[in-house]
Amino acid sequence: MTHDLEALRRDVRSFLKAQAPADWRASSRTQDDFVRTQRDWFGKLVHAGYAIPHWPAEYPGGGRSLAEQKVIYEELARADCPRLLLSFVSTYHAFATLHECGNAAQKARYLPRILEGETWCQGFSEPGAGSDLAAIKTRAERKGDVYVINGQKVWSTMAQFADKCLLLARTASDGPKQAGITYLLMDMKAPGVAVRPIHQIQGDEEFAEIFLDNVEIPVCERVGEEGMGWAVAQATLASERGLTLMELSYRMRGALGRVAGLIRKHGHEDDRGVLRDFGVLVTQVDAVCALADQFLDNRINGIERIGDASIVKNAYSRALRAYSALGLRLGGMDEQYVAPITFGDLNTGNWMADFMNSYAWTIAGGSEEVQRNIIAERMLEMPREPKGWVL
Ligand SMILES: Cc1cc2nc3c(=O)[nH]c(=O)nc-3n(C[C@H](O)[C@H](O)[C@H](O)COP(=O)(O)OP(=O)(O)OC[C@H]3O[C@@H](n4cnc5c(N)ncnc54)[C@H](O)[C@@H]3O)c2cc1C
Repeated sequence: MTHDLEALRRDVRSFLKAQAPADWRASSRTQDDFVRTQRDWFGKLVHAGYAIPHWPAEYPGGGRSLAEQKVIYEELARADCPRLLLSFVSTYHAFATLHECGNAAQKARYLPRILEGETWCQGFSEPGAGSDLAAIKTRAERKGDVYVINGQKVWSTMAQFADKCLLLARTASDGPKQAGITYLLMDMKAPGVAVRPIHQIQGDEEFAEIFLDNVEIPVCERVGEEGMGWAVAQATLASERGLTLMELSYRMRGALGRVAGLIRKHGHEDDRGVLRDFGVLVTQVDAVCALADQFLDNRINGIERIGDASIVKNAYSRALRAYSALGLRLGGMDEQYVAPITFGDLNTGNWMADFMNSYAWTIAGGSEEVQRNIIAERMLEMPREPKGWVL
């Protein structure tokens, strides 16, 4: 590690010591509290210059190297601060899309607003189009200076709190299904947009359905050319993995202390079976951290391969299931209920909620099976699955 990275680590650590919200779990037990806590924490990180290290240097706090970003995420994980769940789509997906494919006016209008806390959601998936995203049916019909949108989106994370939406809609249905998709920036308060939160098994409502009934989107809100949205969507999707996986893996390693706490609390210190299972978990989590590190090193050195991110994602989601399952088991009867919580990935403070939520990670951002297909077909060059194959 260079001297500069050590200095950065010290700076981040001292900022977090003074500013990290210690009581964020307790103060996120209702949706309103969650939104307030997230907005407050995001504002503090923007102010300190640690919220958007991956943005270019012209934005305050941007222009960091990948090695510096890694230090910041390691320290955020170590300090057990809330993850920036509410601003995740804005600062990663929306930023990547606008930065790579947006025009000058769109960048000038929206990137500063994101730093002020404007919240975005992603409206890609539909009831019949998740893994097979190009099968979307939501229509966008051009009428003069606007597109008129009709259709439905589903699984849109935090859409109920969002100001804007990254929307994929179909402007043509002839030709290959990837053609004829147009990428639009939709105002979530526009007439005709209805959001219905989806109540989840663990008790919260992390995502929502979006119903679109004659919604008008000005043509100037189109990213890229009409019908070329598939290529723009790749910029959005490419931003979804990478650093996220590193931050999450390190958070899980830090959270192993919670499992160790349960072993002590329930007197399992001499239980060889429990100690063996804990030892296996520690090794599994260490392996995920090593994979995430290697993935980022490969990216820093420009030797990332297709499938690398899929390997880390699958390893992470499997370790997450093992971690929360062991915590649930060791927690005994005390943990067999779902306490009022709001959102979180692995560390809400409630084992039952975390266990149930751990399944989401095998689906979100591309299901485990589809990641395996990527590894098999595109990385290992194994035979492709037959076309027209259905479940
Ligand atoms: C927590 C969470 C947050 C999400 N957030 C968003 C969001 O903000 N915005 C958004 O647009 N979407 C979001 N999604 C949706 C997500 O992208 C989709 O759920 C995902 O792509 C899978 O699509 P699907 O649900 O339609 O499942 P399907 O594609 O119908 O798949 C069903 C099952 O079939 C398997 N399968 C499908 N095709 C193949 C194949 N070729 N080979 C082998 N198996 C196959 C899948 O792996 C899966 O097990 C989110 C999902 C989750 C769980």
